[in-house]
Amino acid sequence: MTVIAADIGGSSTKVAELDGLRVLRASRLPHRGGEADLDALEALVRSWQDDPTPAGPVAAAGLALPGVVDATGVMRSVHDKVGSLVDRDLAGEVGGWLGVPVAVDNDARAAGWGEYVAGAGQGAEVLLTLTLGTGVGSSLVVGGVALRDGPGHRGVLGGHQQLLPEGPACTCGRHGCLEALASGWALPRVVAERREHHPPSSLPDDPGFARVVEGAVTGDPLGRAVLDELVGWWAVGIANACAVVGPDRVVLTGGLASAAPHVLDDLRRRVEALVWEPSAAPDLRVAPDVWASATLGMADHARHLLGKD
Ligand SMILES: [Zn+2]
Repeated sequence: MTVIAADIGGSSTKVAELDGLRVLRASRLPHRGGEADLDALEALVRSWQDDPTPAGPVAAAGLALPGVVDATGVMRSVHDKVGSLVDRDLAGEVGGWLGVPVAVDNDARAAGWGEYVAGAGQGAEVLLTLTLGTGVGSSLVVGGVALRDGPGHRGVLGGHQQLLPEGPACTCGRHGCLEALASGWALPRVVAERREHHPPSSLPDDPGFARVVEGAVTGDPLGRAVLDELVGWWAVGIANACAVVGPDRVVLTGGLASAAPHVLDDLRRRVEALVWEPSAAPDLRVAPDVWASATLGMADHARHLLGKD
C-alpha cells in the first residue's frame, strides 16, 4: 500500500507517492489557480494509478493547502490565488475520485510535521518551522504534539507578525508583516526599491528568487542587497518567535530556503545578536529537501488515517 501526498502552493503543487515515509515518485506541477490545480492533480494521480508501483495501490492521501484550515479539514480563509478552494470539503471531493480517505491540513503545519517526523526537526523539544515561499508560514510542534485544532490559526500565522507598521501593504490588510517584507511575492518590490540605490544590475525587474541568489553569489551588488534585506527580516522574525515560544530548534523550508547554503551562517549570527541572550538562540537548520516538507507531513497524516503508527 502507498499514500499520495500533495501540497498546493502559490507557485506550484508538489505531489508525491510514498511507501511509509519513503518517496517512490514525485512531481511538481506549475500553479494554475484553484480549480485547475485540482484538475492537474487528478490527472497526474490517475496516470500514476494506471502505472502502479511494486509497493501496491494507493490506500490513503493527504492534501496541504496554503490557508487557514480548521479542525474539520476545511480551508476557511486564504490570501492568495486559490480562493476558489475556500469552504469546500476537499477531503470528500478528492477522496471521491481517488476512492481512499484523505487528510487535509495547512501547508506550513504539514511542513513542520514533516520535518519533525522525517527531516531536520527530528528530536526537537519545541520545534518552530518557517516556510519561506510565495508567502511565509509557520508551525509549532511541542513535545511531539503539533499546535493545531480550534479555528485553525494556531501556530500558522507567523508570517503575519507585524515588523514595520508603516511598511508595505500585506495581503492580510495590515502593513509591514514579515511576509510583506521578505517573501516570494514581496520580492519584485524589494528589487525595485533597492535598484534605486545601486549601480546598473543585470537582474530583471521580476527576477525570481533563484536569480537573486545567483546574482548575490556572483557579486551583483543588487542581488547582494536584496538577499541581505530578506535575511535581515527573517532574523527579526525568528528572534521575535524565540522571545514568545523559545524553540530549541528552528527549521527553514520552502523555496526561498533553497538559498540557505549562502545565508545560514549570516542568519545565525543575526539571530544570536537579536535574542535575549546567546543561550536563547535556537539550533537553526534547513530542511534536507525544501520542496518535500509538507508532502512528508501529509503522508504521515495519511498513514494515520489507516491506523499506522
Ligand atoms: Zn500580513
